Amino acid sequence: MNVYDSARMADVLAPLGYRPTPVPDDADMVILNTCHIREKATEKVFSELGRLRGLKRKDDRGAILAVAGCVAQAEGEEILRRAPYVDMVFGPQTYHTLPEMVARAERGTGGVLNTEFPVVSKFDVLPEETGNRDVTAFLSVQEGCDKFCTFCVVPYTRGAEFSRPVRQIVDEARRLVASGAREITLLGQNVNAFHGDGPDGRVWGLGRLIRELAEIDGLARIRYTTSHPRDMDDELIAAHGSVPQLMPFLHLPVQSGSDRILAAMNRKHGADAYRAVVDRLRAARPDLALSSDFIVGFPGETDGDFAETLRLVTEIGYAQAYSFKYSARPGTPAATLEDQVPEPVKTERLAALQQLLNAQQIAFNEASVGRTLPVLLDRRGRRDGQLLGRTPHLQSVHINAMDGLYGQMADVKIEAAHANSLAGRLASDGPAPPAGTDPHPERVCA
Ligand code: SAH
Ligand code: SF4
Repeated sequence: MNVYDSARMADVLAPLGYRPTPVPDDADMVILNTCHIREKATEKVFSELGRLRGLKRKDDRGAILAVAGCVAQAEGEEILRRAPYVDMVFGPQTYHTLPEMVARAERGTGGVLNTEFPVVSKFDVLPEETGNRDVTAFLSVQEGCDKFCTFCVVPYTRGAEFSRPVRQIVDEARRLVASGAREITLLGQNVNAFHGDGPDGRVWGLGRLIRELAEIDGLARIRYTTSHPRDMDDELIAAHGSVPQLMPFLHLPVQSGSDRILAAMNRKHGADAYRAVVDRLRAARPDLALSSDFIVGFPGETDGDFAETLRLVTEIGYAQAYSFKYSARPGTPAATLEDQVPEPVKTERLAALQQLLNAQQIAFNEASVGRTLPVLLDRRGRRDGQLLGRTPHLQSVHINAMDGLYGQMADVKIEAAHANSLAGRLASDGPAPPAGTDPHPERVCA
């Protein structure tokens, strides 16, 4: 969602004459769009600010320096105190006011702090996106969260649950497709809690919205993330079986396999309820691949609880997953629980979980070898003549192909599997590319 928000900030700043540059040294303004979800992400902000300070000249003019996103929302005053050279600090719900903030920052009367939750939704006032979008695009449909899991900062930083009206979303999707997008990923902190006002005067759920978006000519693929198991309703599950554009890959975080820990996390469901949702999804779409998020070392987690997580992973079988050590976040209920798990125990559990998840991911990738899959070629490789794309199951694939195929859907015969990617050749083509080492070792898979 930060990627989406950053693109929208660029849209707001375009009329003021700003355009993106890849190098901070060239910039007239640098915005750090930040994440507050775990402590590590927050720490990065202050070390990055220290580095960017050099962009300010001695008289404190030079580039405008801004901190946006959830760290700004949660720690705005602290940022201005610790880094008084920062010009603007604003949360995820106020970036549509950037022109006013920039005007104030240019007057140089001290750091601008804007972390209110405004009454008017930013989506009602943001300008239309500027063109030149990628083949794959993000589209925020829902924001915020009312679930208050005891470990999580999102309800405090992103605010209450909010769904955009259907017509606004469909218009944005049409514009994205008109400017070249073939795949759209619908975004929300709790995307399947979407309940937007429909054009028929009724409230629409995500399943209904997806059916509507599938009517857009030229939109080949639809995905959505991130979902909560409790909000997988009948209409959405049915859409997995009936909408061909909806890709057979779902990120459905479970966090833990232990009912006791799930209750302490306030996830509002048990492990069996999660298994039941997965069964229903797989009945609707038998080739559905799943990914998930896991937290190890939540306060009070015993070896027995952790064993339940490993059991759930073994039973479900994931194509991909993200796993984290529990990170105590200030202001959340779990942060003050007494039975915090010692760091070495968290480290050990994370290693064991990741070993299992990585083995599942490799097995999933290896099962693709020999198959011909439709791949959306959405990126150019580092070498000339190399294109990268994604399978329906979101696996990265690299092939040798002419640049003219960029942005196209191609049938690719998969010839090799690595931990984080696949290699193949155009099904209609001759020689295979050399099956070398994994070109994406940096991607975090677990
Ligand atoms: N809305 C989604 C998750 C959003 S946060 C859901 O309910 O599943 C993304 C992921 O970050 C979470 O799934 C969780 O695994 C991880 N996370 C959030 N808070 C965390 C914390 N305090 N410590 C460790 N991981 C955390
Ligand atoms: Fe955070 Fe997701 Fe729980 Fe909401 S549902 S509080 S975003 S983990």
